[in-house]
Amino acid sequence: MSDRELSATAFERVELALDTTFTISRGSTERTTNHLVTVTDRAGRVGLGSAAPAPYYDEDGDSVEAALPDLLGAVESVGDPTAQQDIERRLAEQAPDEAAARAAVSIAVQDLVARQRNEPLYRAWGLSPDRAPVTSVTVGIDDPAAMAERARAWREAGYPALKVKLGTDNDRARLRAVREAAPEASLRVDANGDWSTDEALDALSWLSDLDVALLEQPVPADTHAGLQRVTEAAPMPVAADESCVTATDVPDIADAVDVVVVKLMKCGGLRPAHRQILTAHAHGLDAMLGCMVETSASIAAAAHLAPLVTYADLDGALLVADDPCTGPSLVGGHLDLAGVESGSGARRR
Ligand SMILES: [Mg+2]
Repeated sequence: MSDRELSATAFERVELALDTTFTISRGSTERTTNHLVTVTDRAGRVGLGSAAPAPYYDEDGDSVEAALPDLLGAVESVGDPTAQQDIERRLAEQAPDEAAARAAVSIAVQDLVARQRNEPLYRAWGLSPDRAPVTSVTVGIDDPAAMAERARAWREAGYPALKVKLGTDNDRARLRAVREAAPEASLRVDANGDWSTDEALDALSWLSDLDVALLEQPVPADTHAGLQRVTEAAPMPVAADESCVTATDVPDIADAVDVVVVKLMKCGGLRPAHRQILTAHAHGLDAMLGCMVETSASIAAAAHLAPLVTYADLDGALLVADDPCTGPSLVGGHLDLAGVESGSGARRR
């Protein structure tokens, strides 16, 4: 039997404290639950993944924890970690509604395979590490002065692109405060579906005046015609996040937006994310790689697909006060994939 066969799997629940309360239009978060997953081969090499479930998609730490034993059992029954097609099919059959748990398991397996091959994960797709775009960092909803302070801190730390959460009262004043604090920054706005179509159409003039480079999910996920009207009227590209969960959603949304937001935790892993990005491209759309509040174990994995996308928003681990893992450097928003020797580059601290 090959020393590349799986010999053990394990998972661990980790409670993550955020470094500051993180607020979006749907609510505030101070702590979140992730699960770390490891898969080990007979030679003792370890692959690492993590799950960051989103309550919006009816997943949480408990549902991940309930799904993981069967998902890991399915992977063990396949045995050969390079049998990616088989593994993905078994995971999807086992837990079709637990995308974050499937993502964690499949990330761990793919990390292991890349480590067995002694090459960085992006090599599995033949990607060029220097093509990864700069990642944005997020300014959550707060009072205007606090948002300005956060924006200033990110800029002083060298991050050139900011994603500003809106979708509350006084959105214009909040964004103006950020713009004044970060006059040179590339600003992206994410309303997380809070605006009505009319509110979004009205906002376009001040979003444009404040030089917003990208508008994400201005209207609710199921507002196809509204999204289409906003995109047609908007001077900046418009992105679908909640409106586009997996590759199969792309054809429906293709005439209503310019950009598709792809997250491993929405679609269920690296292979589904790769498929969603290519489906977006096939429909003439750009793609953004996004994330939840996550450990570096899953952020690192997502970063290896970044050479394929136009926009990266992979700051999830930067929002965590006590990340249990380390990953490739993203100082100043630059994803250092070239510095990864093998696998995702993530390790347990
Ligand atoms: Mg979003």
